[in-house]
Amino acid sequence: MPAHCPSGQLLDQRARPLRDLRISVTDRCNFRCAYCMPKDVFDKDYPYLPHKALLTFEEITRLARIFTAHGVRKFRLTGGEPLLRKGLEQLIAQLSALRTPEGDALDITLTTNGSLLRRKAQLLKDAGLKRVTVSLDGLDDATFRSMNDVDFPVADVLDGIEAAREAGLQDIKVNMVVKRSTNVSQILPMARHFRGTGVTLRFIEYMDVGATNGWCMDEVLPSADVVNLINADMPLVQLDPTAPGETAKRWGYADAHGQHDPNWAKLASSAA
Ligand code: SF4
Repeated sequence: MPAHCPSGQLLDQRARPLRDLRISVTDRCNFRCAYCMPKDVFDKDYPYLPHKALLTFEEITRLARIFTAHGVRKFRLTGGEPLLRKGLEQLIAQLSALRTPEGDALDITLTTNGSLLRRKAQLLKDAGLKRVTVSLDGLDDATFRSMNDVDFPVADVLDGIEAAREAGLQDIKVNMVVKRSTNVSQILPMARHFRGTGVTLRFIEYMDVGATNGWCMDEVLPSADVVNLINADMPLVQLDPTAPGETAKRWGYADAHGQHDPNWAKLASSAA
């Protein structure tokens, strides 16, 4: 067997196969969310990786091919903000051309802050992207501008989500990180806004990502509280996991009979 085409599944200590792989294509972002890239740390003097230190698209594709041979079926492109990486659609096209040993296409998805989606959505779709996840922490413009800390308007992100739908990207997800002192008031408006749109809204507990984001436990709103808050306003039903070992819990909106209405968007709540 050629050296570039190994085989055999990668298993963790509980014998769960490695199915998903995140690939960070840049360490830069045009937002400065305080829980991730606070302005006082990620300032103009921050030593970002030089371009030559980044994996090229060809290197990423080669790694993806090797991981595919080891059982990986889903690749999620992240950053920083992945759409800041010039010509990202070329990488999407290269990854979309890969096939599993059974001849199936891979699941390629992208997590973005949505700021460049209006400009990029059609290019990404045409290159073979099927799905996209947008990070959005609230609908209130003042709250959103203060959370991204670069005064970026929420209307432009919502327009980016619309552009993704117009381009035909399916299974659009919106991730909301909940921070007790900042955007708890946005939970219900977000749930109401995306209900019935086909977009899956995911609530993420505020988590510690290392020494830079000033994380403290007081800021964490447990995901059970998020679910209770929404359930009191719009009754929910818990859904079965879609894959073994899934960490997020899934919820759907209930119809008048307490049954899941599949026409309405799903919610997922995830502990860190
Ligand atoms: S948009 Fe995402 S990557 Fe950028 S600073 Fe905010 S959380 Fe971090």
